[in-house]
Amino acid sequence: MHVHVHVHVKNLSPTEIRILKSFLRVLLPRSNKIPVDVDEIKVVESLEVQFKALPRLIRIHFKLGFRIFQWGGLLYGAKPFTWLSPARQVGYLDFWERIHFYPLRMMLRLLISMCYVNYYSQPEVYQCLGYSLPPVTVKRERAESNNLVIFPKKDIFLKTEVCVIGSGAGGAVAAKHLAAHGHEVVILEEGDFFDVNNFNEEPYDIVRKAYRDGGFETTIGFPLIITPTGRAVGGTTLINSGTCFRLPENVLEKWNEQWGLDISYKELAPYFEDVEKTLHIEEAKEDVLGNIGLKVKKGIEVLGLQGHPLRRNAPGCQGAGRCCFGCPTEAKKSTNLNYIPEALRHGAQLYANCRAETIIPKYDYGAEVIGTFVDPKTGQKCHQIHIKAEILILAGGSLQTPLLIKKNQLLLHNSHVGRHLTIHPAAKVIARFDEDIEGWKGIPQGYCMDEWREAGINFEGAFTPPAYSAAAVSVSRQQHRSLMENYRQCASFGFLVSDSGQGRVVRLPTGDPLVLYNLHRQDLEKFKKGIRLLCQIFFAAGAREIYTGIHPLPRVNGMGDLVIMDQLKMKRTDLDLGAFHPLGTCRMGSKPNQSVVGPFGEVHGLKNIFIADGSVFPSSLGVNPMVTIMAFAARCADHVHQRLIH
Ligand SMILES: Cc1cc2nc3c(=O)[nH]c(=O)nc-3n(C[C@H](O)[C@H](O)[C@H](O)COP(=O)(O)OP(=O)(O)OC[C@H]3O[C@@H](n4cnc5c(N)ncnc54)[C@H](O)[C@@H]3O)c2cc1C
Ligand code: SF4
Repeated sequence: MHVHVHVHVKNLSPTEIRILKSFLRVLLPRSNKIPVDVDEIKVVESLEVQFKALPRLIRIHFKLGFRIFQWGGLLYGAKPFTWLSPARQVGYLDFWERIHFYPLRMMLRLLISMCYVNYYSQPEVYQCLGYSLPPVTVKRERAESNNLVIFPKKDIFLKTEVCVIGSGAGGAVAAKHLAAHGHEVVILEEGDFFDVNNFNEEPYDIVRKAYRDGGFETTIGFPLIITPTGRAVGGTTLINSGTCFRLPENVLEKWNEQWGLDISYKELAPYFEDVEKTLHIEEAKEDVLGNIGLKVKKGIEVLGLQGHPLRRNAPGCQGAGRCCFGCPTEAKKSTNLNYIPEALRHGAQLYANCRAETIIPKYDYGAEVIGTFVDPKTGQKCHQIHIKAEILILAGGSLQTPLLIKKNQLLLHNSHVGRHLTIHPAAKVIARFDEDIEGWKGIPQGYCMDEWREAGINFEGAFTPPAYSAAAVSVSRQQHRSLMENYRQCASFGFLVSDSGQGRVVRLPTGDPLVLYNLHRQDLEKFKKGIRLLCQIFFAAGAREIYTGIHPLPRVNGMGDLVIMDQLKMKRTDLDLGAFHPLGTCRMGSKPNQSVVGPFGEVHGLKNIFIADGSVFPSSLGVNPMVTIMAFAARCADHVHQRLIH
């Protein structure tokens, strides 16, 4: 089947397109189970769209990668890659796949992942795997509110009591509480407004629109870790998995001891209760856990371990299997469905598609903020908003808030801004069974095992649509094809690790962000243990083979292979990891020489500026952070309220 589409090349040069087409032809051999000729033009066009959404540094990386790959052919076959015969091209790619030098291996890996995402997100391809988008059962008129401005027609100038930057877990909660206390609140959100009418789109399209940098935010270090965040009204809560945990008590004790916080669990309890009530948090129902939950449950029981459904903010969840791409049934209660509408009902104003860029702190009142609107369709900057606010609350998330502070040179004397980044690095394994699992029918992250949480390993479900599973697995082309052909029979499960190490967010002189993070050697041990236990659980549940995410041992076929795993001298770069919880880059503490904000989120040295997002946590939590971010944001808002009325 061939669809001929004219390619408008804006970001990729004709040579790069030529390399890509040859590359795709070698990467994606035909097979009986996926009876679609590779339509390179369509995939290349899709790649081009994704390429535009990538951060500049990654685009440069790719362009460099194309050239190295093309001219590396000279060393292999005395000709550039595209000039080699098809058979030699296959041999050349095999040769690259055997390269151990990590930077070159990762360069190829990123290129391959991009190709797989764009190939397996073509409906003709994923339909062959048995995958289909879930039917949408909720459709409604777009909620209009006079207080929601998606795109203004001219520059805006206004004064307000409180300006909140960001509408995710922290920003939405702070804005709602302050608006409900009767204060004037203006929210600036860089991302667009999405609702249930958008969520019957392809997962790939949602990622491009509602994730920052097209979902390709990554840490640089050993290993390289994709660390995506949301950019939308609702922030990352719009595209998260809906798992809800309270802050573990021992973590709060550690914060109190090490950073002199003096926050009691008793004081936090009403904030947690309020969040849990607003988000309708309850344990996932067994009937929507899907086959993966049931398989894991079986394996856990065989091994005599303890597991249970996760607590989630998704009452009435239909198990539509795509929480990370916007819930198409509105079951998952992201902040665009509760805190934001509540804030608007109490008179707050929300400006979407507006990136706060300039902050000028004032001594007599809070700060002046200038934001720029960007047309979501064209990406062009247009009008500006100028705000004079008595109080400014930063809630852009742990990767953006420190950048905004650095850009505006707000805390030059404070070396902690951007440091102490923790990310909860995470791994998953994919198990293939003999019978159909159809993992997309059910909650992708609905079940958990808390056995090793105290030891810093938190096991949770982790299923993704074919395009994202394909991109996450690093095995030979033949093994990859076989895995994808049997995708229907696959189950995946994962875990996150409470980091022992820390990274850093840097703003380069060009203005580009750089996130530096090296996995701590102690955490490498946790990954070894966690992956091994997941393999045991899946084998106990009857898995035939398991894709481990470990480079030197990518696939195991039975318990016997776990002995080989035990003997492996594993390096950090042997692991395929992701991370979903960046935290800590503006940490909280009582002493200004050890932290960026005080116990209520007040920025040390800037009286009327506060931070109310995940960046304030002084260490990783060991559990998913959304609920804790919300509770701390509500507590910060109550403190701001007291400040405003006295
Ligand atoms: C795929 C995925 C799954 C996850 N699953 C879970 C889960 O199941 N449970 C859980 O607890 N956590 C989960 N998380 C993490 C959780 O959602 C986040 O930790 C949480 O939302 C972070 O809250 P925040 O307020 O710090 O930032 P965010 O929620 O990311 O909100 C920040 C907002 O600020 C905006 N912004 C940034 N800079 C600017 C600027 N200069 N001007 C204007 N706006 C700006 C951003 O566009 C964004 O919308 C998941 C994350 C991901 C990526
Ligand atoms: S599984 Fe996720 S996406 Fe599907 S209905 Fe439940 S919350 Fe929504």
